[in-house]
Amino acid sequence: MEYYSRHISALIEELSKLPGIGSKSAQRLAFHILGMPKDQVNHLADTLRSAREHIQYCRVCGTLTDQEICPICSNPNRNHRQIMVVENSRDLAAYEKTRKYEGVYHVLQGAISPTLGIGPDDIRLKELMRRLEGDVDEVIIATNSGIEGEATAMYISRLVKPTGIRVSRIASGVPVGGDLEYIDEVTLLRALEGRVDL
Ligand code: ZN
Repeated sequence: MEYYSRHISALIEELSKLPGIGSKSAQRLAFHILGMPKDQVNHLADTLRSAREHIQYCRVCGTLTDQEICPICSNPNRNHRQIMVVENSRDLAAYEKTRKYEGVYHVLQGAISPTLGIGPDDIRLKELMRRLEGDVDEVIIATNSGIEGEATAMYISRLVKPTGIRVSRIASGVPVGGDLEYIDEVTLLRALEGRVDL
């Protein structure tokens, strides 16, 4: 990387910290950005800064939003007695794209993973249990179908069952290890409709 000037190297280094961006991609992006008109680069930088500045976690469901309470949680037309538990905001967005789910969500912001040292206290389970003290008819567990998602689903079902609230798991039509966000809407909808009680 010593072939480049300090500013170029710094830009490549920052870009290569992003997920899925190897050093080759980082170099390609860096030179692309450096070739862009200055006002376009400024606009990109401003957009990044302002997104980070204004985005926060919804006080109810924990998804990323620019309001204290996200538009889904504050929508009176949604069924607030049905809570779908997802791992992250990207998975929530995947279900929202189906336009068929009318309940609300709970975003765990992760999944239990002993290998990564992520335990039940590291994801938003306490917040989920607190929500279940209100009027809730069903908890739909829609964590991913990999080992971590399954372990998390099992843990949640054990936690929720004693409350008497219905607990279901989306059908396993979702390929194993497949991240929910990459699955098409029809498959997601089928997984939701084919959910089984735990
Ligand atoms: Zn919310």
